[in-house]
Amino acid sequence: QVHAQKKTKAAPQAKVVAYDSATINARVEALLAKMSLEEKVGQMAQITLDVVGKGPNRFSSFDPLVIDTAEMQKALVKYKIGSVLNTANNKALTPQRWWEVVSYIQQVNMKGNALQIPVIFGIDAIHGATYTAGATLFPQQIAQAATRNRELVRKGAEITAYETRASNTPWVFSPVLDLGADPRFPRIWESFGEDPYIGAQMGHEIVKGYEGEKNDVNDVTHVAASIKHFLGYQAPVSGKDRTPANISKQQLYEYHLPAFKAGVEAGAHTIMINSGQINGIPVHANYEILTKLLKEELGFKGLAVTDWADIENLYRRDHIAASDKEAIMLAINAGIDMSMIPYNYEPFCEGLVALVKEGKVPQSRIDDAVRRVLRVKFELGLFEKPVTNYKDYPKFGSKEFEKASYDAAAEAITLLKNEGGVLPLAKGAKILVTGPNANDIRTLDGAWSYSWQGEKVPQFTAQYNSILTALKKKAGEGNVTYVPGVSYKANGKWYEEAPDRMADAVAAAKNADVIVMCLGENSYAEKPGDLNDLYIGDDQTTLAQQLIATGKPVVLVLTEGRPRIISKFEQGVKSVVLGYLPGNFGGDAIADVLYGDVNPSGKLPYTYPRYPNALIGYIHKPSEEQTKAEGVYNYEADYNPQYPFGAGLSYTTFEYSNLRVALENRVLHVSVDVKNTGTKAGKEAVEVYTSDLVATLISPDVKRLRGFEKISLQAGEGKTVTFDIPVEQLAFAGVDGKPVLEPGDFEVHVAKLTAKFKL
Ligand code: BGC
Repeated sequence: QVHAQKKTKAAPQAKVVAYDSATINARVEALLAKMSLEEKVGQMAQITLDVVGKGPNRFSSFDPLVIDTAEMQKALVKYKIGSVLNTANNKALTPQRWWEVVSYIQQVNMKGNALQIPVIFGIDAIHGATYTAGATLFPQQIAQAATRNRELVRKGAEITAYETRASNTPWVFSPVLDLGADPRFPRIWESFGEDPYIGAQMGHEIVKGYEGEKNDVNDVTHVAASIKHFLGYQAPVSGKDRTPANISKQQLYEYHLPAFKAGVEAGAHTIMINSGQINGIPVHANYEILTKLLKEELGFKGLAVTDWADIENLYRRDHIAASDKEAIMLAINAGIDMSMIPYNYEPFCEGLVALVKEGKVPQSRIDDAVRRVLRVKFELGLFEKPVTNYKDYPKFGSKEFEKASYDAAAEAITLLKNEGGVLPLAKGAKILVTGPNANDIRTLDGAWSYSWQGEKVPQFTAQYNSILTALKKKAGEGNVTYVPGVSYKANGKWYEEAPDRMADAVAAAKNADVIVMCLGENSYAEKPGDLNDLYIGDDQTTLAQQLIATGKPVVLVLTEGRPRIISKFEQGVKSVVLGYLPGNFGGDAIADVLYGDVNPSGKLPYTYPRYPNALIGYIHKPSEEQTKAEGVYNYEADYNPQYPFGAGLSYTTFEYSNLRVALENRVLHVSVDVKNTGTKAGKEAVEVYTSDLVATLISPDVKRLRGFEKISLQAGEGKTVTFDIPVEQLAFAGVDGKPVLEPGDFEVHVAKLTAKFKL
């Protein structure tokens, strides 16, 4: 647990204005009653900090220390803008600089506004305080899912909340609760992967980690979370960011909704909306999804913020509105409470005021939206304490926090293959370290790390180890030879790979006992990460093939945002270690796994595909499996992944036995004995799956995860693991989205054991 560090020195305080009713509701109502229409509309607007930057081009030359006061006066005092998004033009500032910048902006706002409503700052702190120099960056969410360890996920969020508050920001645009089931999509690494149950479980933990177990976000070590991107964001037909998706109601409820439902039930204060469109309607204009489903059916009481410029996108990109003004009408009437504008706030504010006056947006809709915004500000305690002081956060960047990041990385790393006992590496072995990801922290952190695309990582990470430097420390300089073989080169704005002394790498292999080949991807976020080819890069493939041809054992270490296909050479490598995007301590954790100081325990949070045209996840239908039934034509299996969901080896062996299943009072009790039969201590994520053998309405999924528990076992030790699964969890969504629970035959699967039961 991260405990509140109570105030030691006075931070600059705004005058406490007593909208002094006992409850926050009453405070909200009292304030609302005093507000003009213009003041209300201002609360519904969020601009980026770049807007108040000085310079010839206010969008690109912002230096937070050179704030354009006239521009700021206009935005905050004239237009009464209620929220600022801290992108700071891709700058990572120290906590002290954040304190100066935010305090100053807050002061201008307070001086110029009679109602004394504090500005709320929000930021993309998605795996640590993204834009703060010296912050503790954790493994990205996809790696956190691989740990199958709820405590690690919660702890990472608690520390992120603490360090984000230390940076004077009370609101994070995190977690991503999208279903990350399509490896083509450039943001799968921001999600908890392809399983709705893991998404819901980890979604709960991360929201509670950010907001506190009781969602007491006025505690200045907690932040308001924003679950995003509601709903169906990561499932476009093309696999490319912000392109159309077709998702049936059945699929929305069965696969995409559970994690968001869990996030809402965990009390997330805010939600961010899917920038794309589903079933022909941009979600930002979808009344059914934003009002009927989110606010009525799920009972979400918090504030719904748009994604980047997505109201103007309804007109400019999606062409479902004929003007900016019409776009504003559609979005606000659909249920949007706050518009992330981020630059052109004047048309939004003026347009919305006019729409209300013209009777096109009801006053009641404005009041509802503003209530939601004010409630979050009151609950965060911003009226009493609009800024926090970095000096009150002595644990910022501490060793204790760094250890939590390391622990998460160590438990995420997933051993996918280990033939011939090549791993753990023998002490004293001569190793060749090669590949574009060997000596690069950017490829460990991924994007949203000190900058949007992660390109600024090298400026902030000199103190951390790459895989190479960690291996040198462990193995001794003399045992390690490094030749990149392939590197990432800037190509205009983005990066592409290019050979870099490939022949030297192959020559060096001759003198090595083992080759540690570090491949994967460079960092990317959003559209820049769109791909036309899921195979790992051509130069990396060539490097791999040439190194394999030397006959020396090759250990493949992958650090990548999504599973890049490796089937052109996978059979030639002895071992495969997947690090995902393991964060600032990923280099150390990978080196510890390679040398056996950490026994790997990660499990795949997605299906690792073998072919680009065979992207079938573990949640699939019987028709996608090879059938062995008599009289049925035997196709080649469609479902034939490189590694299945849940794959992950250990340096020890776990034996499962005695699977028992009992149904009692509508709860399915499952228990199983697990024993460490090897010679090393290890951790094991025990997973329970069920299969509904016949479902009359929707062809049943072949199997579904219903529970997981991470346990530690000493060599020789055994434990009994039990799961209590309410039978309602076994229901599936019908075509109308409503749960259907049918009697019939079911199976329970734990590791290779199967038991049957009847409902
Ligand atoms: C992303 C969001 C992010 C927002 C603010 C958008 O482009 O889709 O996930 O929170 O930018 O930076």
